[in-house]
Amino acid sequence: MKITDVTLTMFEWGGGHAQYGTTNPLVNKSQIGLVTIGTDEGVTGHSFLGASYRSAEIEAWSMINILKPIIMGRDPFDRGAIYEDMVKRVVATSFRAIGAIDVALWDLAGKVAGLPVHKLIGTHQHSVPAYASSPTLKTDEEYVDLGLKVKEAGYVGYKTHPPAHYTADQNIALHRKIRDAVGPGYRLMVDAAAHLDYGHALKLGIALKELDCYWFEDPLPHTDIWTYVKLCEKLEIPVMATEYQPGGFHFYAPWITMHATDYLRGDVAVKGGITPCLMTALLAHGFHMNYEIHHGGNSVNNIANLHLIQALPNSELFEVLLPGKAHKFGVLNDLDIDKRGHVTAPDGPGLGIEYDMDAIKRLTVGVLR
Ligand SMILES: [Mg+2]
Repeated sequence: MKITDVTLTMFEWGGGHAQYGTTNPLVNKSQIGLVTIGTDEGVTGHSFLGASYRSAEIEAWSMINILKPIIMGRDPFDRGAIYEDMVKRVVATSFRAIGAIDVALWDLAGKVAGLPVHKLIGTHQHSVPAYASSPTLKTDEEYVDLGLKVKEAGYVGYKTHPPAHYTADQNIALHRKIRDAVGPGYRLMVDAAAHLDYGHALKLGIALKELDCYWFEDPLPHTDIWTYVKLCEKLEIPVMATEYQPGGFHFYAPWITMHATDYLRGDVAVKGGITPCLMTALLAHGFHMNYEIHHGGNSVNNIANLHLIQALPNSELFEVLLPGKAHKFGVLNDLDIDKRGHVTAPDGPGLGIEYDMDAIKRLTVGVLR
């Protein structure tokens, strides 16, 4: 089998918009790219490029001009070699563009095999407990109200993205209110989105342990591995960094060997697809560390993330970033939690996705080839 075509159908994002960890004006216009990888045997693989807060236009040029020439004419099952060849050209493209190609190649492989992607890799869990993640809200009361709604809706936990300007004391007061409202035992996590310095992170991390929070995510700037080491030495609550640390798979090694984080973090969009996320998960597993998957920014990446988690022994929770309308669009059989608060990947071949082609066609602005 040979890859004979790669196209990017660019369409206007038809869902809602939200923002996280910033008070900048809301961006409410973006495009998504439907990636189509065609073969000489008529099988196709698909994925989405882009998000409501990050237009696919940013990556589209390099996907068509840099990555397409690398994969044209190749056997789509040479996914491992194709991935390494794409990474060699990352200076002229991005891990997001590489990731969209890689996800489409896994979709294609699953279709040929007649298996959902998690079965192709090797299923480890048949469903995954889901937690809800807040957008950045204006008042403490809004965070408390959302926490109560999330618990009522059946999610197994609630993660906040507090306002970037909150001090340790403001954050402690906020999370004490949330804990009082949702009660003891409900799983709470905090994502500081890299906005704190050492003093505030240390004070907040000690308090979050006392409030029985489950993990403390991205307290410090993504590049500050030195201060992460110091912070991890002092805190009892598990610290989770590496979601947006610069670079791909090879940049995890110092975070592990320097004890700069307790969990590894990534997702198929930010880190370059299912292939490097699998490698990262197994690397983490070798060190008895969990690899917790970040939301994927669009419906297809979230479903790809879920197939990945279902195939992993060391990934516990699925992230649902709120509001859902800002991340769900273009897919007819999108994910929803069941009565236990779990999500399950579609069981069709590949990613198992039914695309909303009526909506995509209606909003299409052009096709890049
Ligand atoms: Mg995060």
